[in-house]
Amino acid sequence: MVIVYIEEAGELAQQALAFAHELGEPLHALAAGGAPAVAGVETIHVAEDDVFASHAPAAIAQALVELVERLAPTAVVAAGTERGNEVLAHAAARLDVPFSANCVAATAGDPMHVTRVRWGGSLLEDARLHGSPKLLTVQPHAVPAAENTGDEPETEAFAPTLSEGDRLVRVVERVAAADGGISLADAKVVVSAGRGAGSPEGFGIIEELAGLLGGAVGCSRAVTMAGWRPHTDQVGQTGTKIAPEIYIACGISGATQHMAGCKGAKALLAINTDADAPILASADYAVIGDLHEVVPAVSAELRKARGD
Ligand code: FAD
Repeated sequence: MVIVYIEEAGELAQQALAFAHELGEPLHALAAGGAPAVAGVETIHVAEDDVFASHAPAAIAQALVELVERLAPTAVVAAGTERGNEVLAHAAARLDVPFSANCVAATAGDPMHVTRVRWGGSLLEDARLHGSPKLLTVQPHAVPAAENTGDEPETEAFAPTLSEGDRLVRVVERVAAADGGISLADAKVVVSAGRGAGSPEGFGIIEELAGLLGGAVGCSRAVTMAGWRPHTDQVGQTGTKIAPEIYIACGISGATQHMAGCKGAKALLAINTDADAPILASADYAVIGDLHEVVPAVSAELRKARGD
């Protein structure tokens, strides 16, 4: 049996389920606080406690440890989100077993052979994973999502035994993004700018284009380091991993750490003054030109096409 930790229903959960399914064993799921709408598992084990009203990684890990001790799975799989990796890291420490994060492939066995993303996506590592159970997370957007077939799994609630220490780390407050808009991670269109924007004011035209396309605004680390935009806007290895239908990268050179965050984009349009910028090697479309001229021109054409 394989247990899949479901942080929330959605595409990443379906990707983790598809990955776990390939291990060829019956699937069970763990959820904290309530049963998510997922299919393809025999039973969803729902850990119940007031602390699960918000994200509480140590408490979730303790619930996972109890489930592992009760069900003796061969493996535990989760989506390789920040929270998924955090929960499995806690669980690995408690179970004293190794943990392989951000896997893109795994072959069942002991040891299990895994391929995982390292160094922000700049290399793939083949490794052997020992220990029991095998703990692994799945690199977001690296494997296709399983179809949510609609079959209703059984739900079993349980109350894990939690210490005060387990309850210490939890989300106590949520602050909405200043623009209240679409989240970078979920946006179908992301318009980003880098140092080429020149100043915080340079983002006015980026916000305008993102608004016209119903997308979110992103940026490079050069921009967050300069204090032009908040860190929540940063795309990359140390920022948000995005997977939009189209990524419009303006005045961004394409450093490996930036590209690590936008590999999941279905299409990439680069706008850059430098025809030799590294980002052009990954671009599906490119405009060689000054973003301060190109971006307003694109917005103007969009307005014209819509009859605004
Ligand atoms: P630059 O590299 O300076 O590129 C600016 C680009 O703008 C150039 O290609 C230039 O030709 C173009 N340009 C200039 N003016 C214009 C104009 N008017 N119109 C059009 N184009 C123009 N970076 C990230 O982005 N995300 C991360 O998560 C991240 N994590 C990192 C983690 C580590 C450990 C390290 C060491 C670095 C990390 N970085 C990250 C930084 C990364 O290495 C680069 O320094 C950064 O991405 C560069 O940002 P940039 O492309 O905006 O700036």
